[in-house]
Amino acid sequence: MKFLIAGFAHETNTFSTVPTDLAAFRAQSFVTGEEVAKAFTGTSTTTGGFLDVICERGDEVVHTVSASATPSGLVTRDAYETITGLILDGVQESQDVDGILLALHGAMVAEGIDDGEGELIRRIRSISGDDIPIVVVLDLHSHITESFIDYATVVIGYQKYPHTDTYERGVEAADLIARIVRGEVHAVSALRKPAMIPVCGKCHTQDGLYKELWDEALGASRPSSVISTSLFAGFSYADIPPMGFAVLVYTDGDVDVANAEADRLADLTWSRRDEFLYTPTSVEDGVSQAIEGTGWPVVIADIADNPGGGSSNDGVEVLRELIRQGVKSAAVGTVYDPDVVDLAIQAGVGGRLTTSLGAKTDSLHGNPMDIEARVISIWDGRFRYKGPMTTGSWASLGDCAVLDVGGIRVIVASKRLQCRDPEIFRAAGIDPLDVDILVVKSAVHFRAAFQPFAAKVIMADGPGLTALDLTRFDYSRIQRPLFPLDV
Ligand SMILES: [Zn+2]
Repeated sequence: MKFLIAGFAHETNTFSTVPTDLAAFRAQSFVTGEEVAKAFTGTSTTTGGFLDVICERGDEVVHTVSASATPSGLVTRDAYETITGLILDGVQESQDVDGILLALHGAMVAEGIDDGEGELIRRIRSISGDDIPIVVVLDLHSHITESFIDYATVVIGYQKYPHTDTYERGVEAADLIARIVRGEVHAVSALRKPAMIPVCGKCHTQDGLYKELWDEALGASRPSSVISTSLFAGFSYADIPPMGFAVLVYTDGDVDVANAEADRLADLTWSRRDEFLYTPTSVEDGVSQAIEGTGWPVVIADIADNPGGGSSNDGVEVLRELIRQGVKSAAVGTVYDPDVVDLAIQAGVGGRLTTSLGAKTDSLHGNPMDIEARVISIWDGRFRYKGPMTTGSWASLGDCAVLDVGGIRVIVASKRLQCRDPEIFRAAGIDPLDVDILVVKSAVHFRAAFQPFAAKVIMADGPGLTALDLTRFDYSRIQRPLFPLDV
């Protein structure tokens, strides 16, 4: 058999003023043709899963493109059409493939296109015809629309948050599409969207409510004809009509069972919606609680400034509070400020800076901070993920400087990137076990790699575009009522 594969991923925060252009994709990940195999073979990614299964079966692969950018504002129409065009060209040139596997996100909003992935799949289907199976893997934070149902054969969502199962979902998709090609499975779907958006910070699946919902979805009550169940949390920071939670169930040919199972899971989630309610912890209280800790290191998640959800990554409110409360043993990963990195490079290791740090992208992430700092080290920002997510993949923070600001070590970076792997600290020369307080710009993903050694985790909700208090956001296009905004 022969399968075309493609990857195109962006989680779009429509409140962000930072446009996501082609340069943003090139800065993170943009590979074409055979480069895709080189970049993803052996990695714990969805595409890595596709490739392993296809190669083990001895099947052929048609590569097109794999592109992803750090979450930020609307994808420019130019970037959307360019990357979509590369995929569509591949589909057009390879009409002899048996199936199409797509590693997408599900929360991409482009200029003039709310449903970035749904529109992509619609265009692919218009070229491929109705007989070619298209199996799609999406992030848990997706906006599910009817386009997914109408134009994809099966859509599979991540089951874990932190997303430690991206590889497994790729394997699942590549196995399933072969069964569909062989005529062993005839997928039919049921979609339910109860009017709710679970608060992101309450959706981790290590324990608690969301894990219990997944246990129910995948446990003994699951009908035997179900071939895929997804519980999409939605992505709160997109002001578009389809934003919200979704249950998506596929069975092998049994529509009634699919509908009953989707109803069962949607009703269960709705009945427990109050458990998603969340009381934010202020930055001041978060730092106080960290200081009161009895073990180290304590991890403070600066959840409202999580670049993994489209924040600017340049807020310094937690740093300011650490200094105000007299903390001496702490490290911050990271603060995006390329201007300060340039100054640090000019000053050199051991040099001193008097400048303004952070909060330069917009007025939504607090205020800049006047600092007097010493340059501890300069680093090219490259590191390899060694935690449970995307293990083995390389990433870059751009040129970086580690600064000593009032005794606190601050990694200042030239690129925005969620701090979800302690390897960022290690690669910057900071032993995360040798620090009392670690500050990470992340909402949940950090838990996979940090929680095993953290004495305590604190979610501090300061200013930023990924605040868990959704009442701060001025929604105008989402469907209302929507829990918990309209409790
Ligand atoms: Zn996600």
